[in-house]
Amino acid sequence: MKIPFNNFEIVHELLKSEMQNAFDKVYKSNWFILGNEVNEFERNYANFNQVKNCVGVSNGLDALHLSLKVLNIGNGDEVILPANTYIATALAVTYVGATPIFVEPNESTYNLDSKNIEQAITSKTKAIMPVHLYGQSCEMEEIMKIAKSNNLCVIEDNAQAQGASFKGKLTGTWGDINGTSFYPGKNLGALGDAGAITTDSDELMEIAKKLRNYGSEVKYVHDTIGYNMRLDEMQAAFLNVKLKYLNNWTLSRQEIADWYNEALSGIEKIILPQIAEGASHVYHLYVIRTNQRDELQKHLTSTGIGTLIHYPIPPHLQKAYSELGYKKGDFPISELLADTSLSLPIWPGMTFEQINYIKDCIIDFFNANKI
Ligand SMILES: *Cc1c(COP(=O)(O)O)cnc(C)c1O
Repeated sequence: MKIPFNNFEIVHELLKSEMQNAFDKVYKSNWFILGNEVNEFERNYANFNQVKNCVGVSNGLDALHLSLKVLNIGNGDEVILPANTYIATALAVTYVGATPIFVEPNESTYNLDSKNIEQAITSKTKAIMPVHLYGQSCEMEEIMKIAKSNNLCVIEDNAQAQGASFKGKLTGTWGDINGTSFYPGKNLGALGDAGAITTDSDELMEIAKKLRNYGSEVKYVHDTIGYNMRLDEMQAAFLNVKLKYLNNWTLSRQEIADWYNEALSGIEKIILPQIAEGASHVYHLYVIRTNQRDELQKHLTSTGIGTLIHYPIPPHLQKAYSELGYKKGDFPISELLADTSLSLPIWPGMTFEQINYIKDCIIDFFNANKI
């Protein structure tokens, strides 16, 4: 059996005619930037996310970058973020001239640990960026409490967790302003790059809309140094089609995760995903951990099963961030996660038989490697 790590085929075959209609509509309109489709998607996504405003942007990284810019975070400021995130979270902070301050995650949920936030706060700290990693919401209540009592902004990195919630309140609605990504492989994926900002603040929304379009509200009049961070009409049209199905896809991901949990629960040498009380998980990724990670990955590759590692090198150990002066051992939990995590295939439409086959291959591996 061959099981790819990710697979759009099933979903895209089902949506083919709807997506072609969306293409035709934009193609015939001859209007490709900031038009009806983007407006409609912004309304639809705000509605889905139960938030007042959505601003469509070019990608997830730009959504985070723009969010920080809108909050006026810049030179000399510090922003707290988890040490075990995708590099984009840190890059957004670097782009505005602020310094990323990494903190260790919780060892069982892999999300930002509020216990570690307070000791990282200095007089320069301006914001906290929780990342809902792998699709599980952070424990937002405690994070918001810390932010409030220290007068800090919160910017959620919601790239992996569209539709997740903490105590019933959706991710992407807790922070002052939040970013998400519609990179094709995300839970809601465009057919190219796309992203969005969500916020309940009309004021922040207005600034974001201006900055994404060259700092301009009136054509050829520029009040501030803006960017080109626009979502285009074609991607917005595709996203308008796909958004209607997102809740169903999330249910499918959660069912697959349940199958995995059940199938793998008896295997001593692997650690399964653990969910914090009050949190929900939309399983952008299904990540297990084992000390024999590299060997297990090799075995699964040889049996036709695609896996990936999220992420093999934490940002503080990337060459790109050598200037920050971190070294191996500075964030032991994050480094342990980088050495032991393995993401198994999860995509809407996977079958019970496929999960069973993956389980059998994992059991074969540990049986053969018994010492
Ligand atoms: C994908 C992702 C991003 C960046 O999104 P792009 O659309 O690729 O720019 C940022 N943060 C996290 C956690 C992500 O997974």
